Amino acid sequence: MTAPHAQAFIALGSNLEHPLKQVRQAIDALRAHPDIEFIAQSHWYQSRPVGPQDQPDYINGVAQVSTHLSPLALLDVLQQIEHDHGRVRLTHWGPRTLDLDLLWFAGMTWQDERLTLPHPRMCERNFVLLPLCDLAPELELSQGLSATQWAQAVGQAGIERLHATA
Ligand code: ATP
Ligand code: MG
Ligand code: MG
Repeated sequence: MTAPHAQAFIALGSNLEHPLKQVRQAIDALRAHPDIEFIAQSHWYQSRPVGPQDQPDYINGVAQVSTHLSPLALLDVLQQIEHDHGRVRLTHWGPRTLDLDLLWFAGMTWQDERLTLPHPRMCERNFVLLPLCDLAPELELSQGLSATQWAQAVGQAGIERLHATA
């Protein structure tokens, strides 16, 4: 018997070594993974960095998937894809070739040393909320507010939608 599939949203970000290429390759890796059913992706956005400002702009987007994997097993897959993209953790919130964050997994809350669900900073970040709204504007996030309501609260400073095709 196979486990029921859970829906999940994954944030993608890159600001090094051809960021648009990095995030597109990450989408390809998600599509190709045998344990992940790829559902949809958002538009791509360009955003100013959080944390240290002396680094290039980011390309950000969100992917929607369905999987029978557990949240931790899905995080393993995301970290393997980051690793395959040559991600090196140097400074906190510093530049990176690829960041894949698990935003939301079947509405679950989770808290351990490896994983917090929903992602604890997603409702402060327009570079997460805007692409998430492309896919799931009604998704209920913290305090019973939808992705759209959080996106309106956070505003659109420092971010623009790219016209690059998906
Ligand atoms: P932020 O989480 O603020 O976006 P970051 O993405 O730069 O920061 P990372 O260096 O990618 O942070 O990850 C640090 C740790 O966060 C990872 O080792 C991972 O185990 C943990 N983590 C906790 N919750 C999550 C989550 N929901 N998605 C991805 N990683 C998570
Ligand atoms: Mg991150
Ligand atoms: Mg991360």
